Amino acid sequence: MGIIARRGMLGSIGAGLAVGAMGNMPLWARAKRKLGYAVVGLGSYATQQIMPRLAQCEFAELRALVSGTPAKLEKFGAQYGIPRTHWYDYRRYDRIRDNPDIDLVYVVLPNSMHAEYAIRASQAGKHVLCEKPMAVSAAECEAMIAAARAARRKLMIGYRSQFEPHNLRAIELVKSGFVGRPTLITSEHGFHIQPRQWRLDHALSGGGSLMDIGIYSLNAARYLAGEEPLEVSAMESTDRNDPRFATVEDRIDWQMRFPSGAIANCVSSYSSGHNAFRVTGTKGWVGMDPATSYAGHRMWTRRDAQTSEVTLPPPGKDQFVAQLDHLAESVLTGIPLRASGEEGLKDLQLIEAIYRSARERRVIKLA
Ligand code: NAD
Repeated sequence: MGIIARRGMLGSIGAGLAVGAMGNMPLWARAKRKLGYAVVGLGSYATQQIMPRLAQCEFAELRALVSGTPAKLEKFGAQYGIPRTHWYDYRRYDRIRDNPDIDLVYVVLPNSMHAEYAIRASQAGKHVLCEKPMAVSAAECEAMIAAARAARRKLMIGYRSQFEPHNLRAIELVKSGFVGRPTLITSEHGFHIQPRQWRLDHALSGGGSLMDIGIYSLNAARYLAGEEPLEVSAMESTDRNDPRFATVEDRIDWQMRFPSGAIANCVSSYSSGHNAFRVTGTKGWVGMDPATSYAGHRMWTRRDAQTSEVTLPPPGKDQFVAQLDHLAESVLTGIPLRASGEEGLKDLQLIEAIYRSARERRVIKLA
């Protein structure tokens, strides 16, 4: 079924539901209930995680594809019923401007391409969801924010863990005082990287494990602390004889000191497996392992000499769907945007400070 036919059908279903499921939504939002995403870069994350989830969204759907590989456009165009008029290669990308079915653009390209494709989407008048890391430098992040602002369009970063229910519960528990005053956050992320891929090419990745997986340690430490660090101190360990690490770092460990006095100890690695965090305070702790995986999250708490596993009911929307819907809902209804460009910029500023600390072997004070 083509897009026009599907949109027509949605319109009539929407009309039938108007007072029930959408009762609290303003009239103008009901009229155009689902916004259309164009997905840019049809690699493994886009095709295996994101595109299937778009079919489950309440406020959005897949309406266009952008790829440099004609065979991928044929394959996924057929699979998702996207007509040829809504296929773009990178050369024709700016013509998304003329396609009113596209409201939102999801940039899922190698890191060094994020800034260019996000900025071009903003300039085409589209709202942008951009994968993490937002870009490969803080200066690029600033240019992306400026482009979105100039176009009066939204810019969100793909921090899916900020939409994952266990992570949200952990944040809530810390905020509510369950652990007492937080004193130590440990946050570890790493995996064994396979050779010969863009993540190991600095020109495309902008850096090693920190840009790719360590950013989860960093972002989680910040959202668990609920405050921004004052200083950072880092140490890098990379075997430069390993051909995987000719241009990017393997392992980088760092500490951050927060205004409350809490310390974060963070791990980022391309040669060992980690996916965990724990916030320890004066009264107890809350921890997760795995913490930021695609699925299978587990959480424990400790208070009054008692350790308990926390189980949550299955969520209505998983983290991917919740993230995809959030940008659309924010555009439709004006709810404040979470995981904004400013949030992505903060991580890039810290990543630059972490690299600098490791390089110069000293503590870096943050503004
Ligand atoms: P991938 O290699 O599977 O896909 C990258 C896509 O970009 C491919 O379709 C490739 O053809 C295209 N591309 C265009 N120009 C390219 C070039 N010059 N070199 C290499 N590829 C080029 O990578 P991926 O795992 O899908 O990652 C894409 C982005 O998504 C990255 O920014 C990554 O950090 C992010 N990501 C996020 C998560 C998450 O959980 N949030 C998970 C995986 C990846």
